Amino acid sequence: MTARILVVDDIAANVKLLEAKLSAEYFDVMTAMNGLDALKSLEDQLPDIILLDVMMPGMDGFEVCRRVKADPRTAHVPVVMVTALDQPSDRVTGLEAGADDFLTKPVNDIALFARVKSLIRLKMMTDELRMREATGQSLGVLDAADILSPDIAAGPGRILVVEDRPAQIERISNALSPPNELTVTSEAQEVLVRARGGDFDLVIVSLGAESFDGLRICSQMRSMDTTRLVPILVLVEEGDTKRLVRGLELGVNDYLVRPIDRNELIARVRTQLRRKRYADKLRHNFQLSLEMAITDQLTGLYNRRYMARHLATLLEECQRQSKPVSFLILDIDYFKAINDTHGHDAGDEVLKQFAQRVAANVRGIDLACRYGGEEFVVVMPDTDVSFAYMVAERLRQQVADVPFDIPGVEKPLAVTVSIGVTSTEGAADTADTLLKRADQALYKAKRDGRNRVIADAA
Ligand code: GH3
Ligand code: MG
Ligand code: MG
Repeated sequence: MTARILVVDDIAANVKLLEAKLSAEYFDVMTAMNGLDALKSLEDQLPDIILLDVMMPGMDGFEVCRRVKADPRTAHVPVVMVTALDQPSDRVTGLEAGADDFLTKPVNDIALFARVKSLIRLKMMTDELRMREATGQSLGVLDAADILSPDIAAGPGRILVVEDRPAQIERISNALSPPNELTVTSEAQEVLVRARGGDFDLVIVSLGAESFDGLRICSQMRSMDTTRLVPILVLVEEGDTKRLVRGLELGVNDYLVRPIDRNELIARVRTQLRRKRYADKLRHNFQLSLEMAITDQLTGLYNRRYMARHLATLLEECQRQSKPVSFLILDIDYFKAINDTHGHDAGDEVLKQFAQRVAANVRGIDLACRYGGEEFVVVMPDTDVSFAYMVAERLRQQVADVPFDIPGVEKPLAVTVSIGVTSTEGAADTADTLLKRADQALYKAKRDGRNRVIADAA
């Protein structure tokens, strides 16, 4: 795992020390000796992580952090504040300034590499999701307004606490609940069952419990698909470096050393919840952009691009099984006149309602799509031409018999549709030949007077 790290500290010896440690692990190190230089260097090249000293003359670390987090171009870069050991309040102030983590001086190697590596893993994941999101935006399926800023409010979360000592449970509860919703357990089996299915935003596991092995729980959670992404915060006894290192290797997200500082616990929990929410939101937006990429925005039906892909796959599959596929092209009659008489918005509304009628009249396995303008296509797997004709005829009647009630238009609008129907005939048929035949049938329906269904049985 390699990454570029920006080290910011006003004392040359501190910069050199961190640079040496990080370079020895093959990280690519950039340095800056004050806040302004640090911000300036971000204009040329973005690091994967910033290690930021708090006490600096001029602009202090908190201010640098605030500015990094306020700029949309740099807000996603993790910031680790490097604070003096005797200033516990600095940690909390740092996290509140938007810092993602902190280290205390003198910087201990375990803590340094644990936190740096965990942040790099996290950044790789968010970079990937951000890239997909950018793709969604460039495809025109996500608005800039949907693109989120990493600065999501934390809000309360559901937390599972795995601990068996009453005094410890009490301390944790006092610090976190309210506002968070806490569930406490000391049963390893129960943890695995309950942590599944997204019921919890965070699991806090004590590594010092007597009745269970906390590390084993972490390892099981990380090895199961259903719990792999649930953030884990472990609580370790002071000096128990061995278990801490093991936990970090297993992929726990963060740790706290006992005795637990109440404010630090609150701050670290808040950071984990915020990260989880950010990742969830990115994943959700990605899902949304996928949906939008294959759907027609006006009608909610599948779009032409999706239909083309799907039809190719479907034809192959049905031909392998020697099953017929039927294909309908529907074109609203004299649609231009509707626009001309009642306006484009009324035309849009007709398209929407028409699409609803199409969707309501086909089966779940049929694929209804908006082919363009006022043309629609229905692909019907495992369906012969006579059945497809029947469906088309039923749809035609329904459209003609029930006028369209359009907001803003005084009287319900009479609308009719012409439909061309065709089915596959043996292995030689492709999407193109099907489309062509259905198009010819549609053309004939139009020529014969519209408001009719013509089947082209080749
Ligand atoms: P025909 O009976 O021969 O099909 O005549 P038509 O008027 O339906 O067909 P034509 O192809 O001449 O006109 C289609 C019109 O559909 C032209 C175009 O402005 C309109 N149209 C295409 N897309 C949309 C849309 O998304 N919304 C609205 N309101 N109109 C659209
Ligand atoms: Mg038309
Ligand atoms: Mg047309």
